[in-house]
Amino acid sequence: MLVLGAGPAALCIIAELVEQGLKVTALASHPPDKPWPNTYGIWAEELEPLGMTSLLGHRWKNTVSFFGNVLDQELSPPIHHNFDYGLFDQFALQKALLDRCAGLDWSLETAMDIQFLGPNTKVLCTSGRTFLARVVIDASGHRSRFIRRPDHGPVAEQAAYGVVGRFSSPPVQSEQFVLMDFRPDHLSSAQQKEPPTFLYAMDFGDDIFFVEETSLACSPPLSWQTLRERLHLRLSHRGVQITEIIHEEHCLFPMNLPLPDRNQPLLAFGGAASMVHPASGYMVGALLRRAPTLAKQIASSLAIEPALDSASIARQGWQALWPTELVLRHRLYQFGLRRLMSFDESRLRLFFATFFKLPREDWSGFLANTLSLTRLIKVMLGLFSISPWRIKFGMVFGASQNKF
Ligand SMILES: Cc1cc2nc3c(=O)[nH]c(=O)nc-3n(C[C@H](O)[C@H](O)[C@H](O)COP(=O)(O)OP(=O)(O)OC[C@H]3O[C@@H](n4cnc5c(N)ncnc54)[C@H](O)[C@@H]3O)c2cc1C
Repeated sequence: MLVLGAGPAALCIIAELVEQGLKVTALASHPPDKPWPNTYGIWAEELEPLGMTSLLGHRWKNTVSFFGNVLDQELSPPIHHNFDYGLFDQFALQKALLDRCAGLDWSLETAMDIQFLGPNTKVLCTSGRTFLARVVIDASGHRSRFIRRPDHGPVAEQAAYGVVGRFSSPPVQSEQFVLMDFRPDHLSSAQQKEPPTFLYAMDFGDDIFFVEETSLACSPPLSWQTLRERLHLRLSHRGVQITEIIHEEHCLFPMNLPLPDRNQPLLAFGGAASMVHPASGYMVGALLRRAPTLAKQIASSLAIEPALDSASIARQGWQALWPTELVLRHRLYQFGLRRLMSFDESRLRLFFATFFKLPREDWSGFLANTLSLTRLIKVMLGLFSISPWRIKFGMVFGASQNKF
């Protein structure tokens, strides 16, 4: 087995392959213990069955969203999610996964080309070194050059610009987590016609907050400059100034990458395998839940037929990673995202205000992708039935030619 990458996807799948007793070689462009550049958030409940809640660096009980004035009512109060949200202590998560990969042979290499030789796969690196493996799992991220996938046209990207820092006054309430603040009162009517963005924000304690202006999905993506200006406008409208920048986050990743060709002799995991949830952008929970299935499949394929070639192992692996049920759920989410991208900002706010009226286990299962296909269809139909006509119309026909 050879795994490319040292991000969360690579470490999740390597840990499970090692657990299955498989011999793994890992190649990554940087040392596996180099701190990851991103912070990862997750609904805390997703970690409970995995016994991993202790890896959260922060956990909020006061979790809210704001959707502003919807249906011409007075400025709506916050929607209380009554559901804990957490942010991984990314050093602890990385270390916990690396500890499970103990004794592994890591090579600091950048893969340049991958060739399929029948029984084995050959990886050629920029240094000139080559590696042979029975099967290769590409966990090199969303922009892998090795994974074949159909071209369905422009891909929508989630973009965000965020600041961890100190502020002249608190940008959110003490001990609060804001999933989405879509209130547009700081925008001129011309700006309200532009692609919508929302604030994702949290209180870290000790007068430190994280505020991030986010565009859910847009093609072409919003620039960080635009998002930065929007963030400053939003804050200054509330009389808040940034007084110290501790860290800046620049986020850009594809939301609706087509699923990979599942007949290719190369496997993938994580961003490279299009595992990002197309309607929310989350992936880490899915990595933790789905890695054991893929690793077990590879181990059992090899146990049944030790001489199996790369293409056959990969085919069985793809089937385990993307069984029909998950493919169909993915298609539904992609359909949903396309509809949301056609909504202007007021319709989008109305949509989310309606979405969070669903029972908690429905909206949280939708966002985590943990509902069965039948349940997901029921939830989507339920959402349709409680939606105002403006949303129903948009869900059926799409709303405009906007590309966000
Ligand atoms: C800023 C940001 C914030 C995010 N926040 C969240 C969040 O809060 N919650 C969530 O669930 N998801 C989040 N995501 C989405 C997703 O979980 C991340 O993008 C995640 O990092 C993807 O993991 P990955 O391991 O597939 O790829 P990456 O994290 O991109 O890791 C790829 C690895 O492959 C290596 N590599 C690349 N090319 C080669 C090569 N040719 N040879 C060898 N090695 C190579 C890289 O060095 C790296 O180690 C976020 C994404 C971003 C960009």
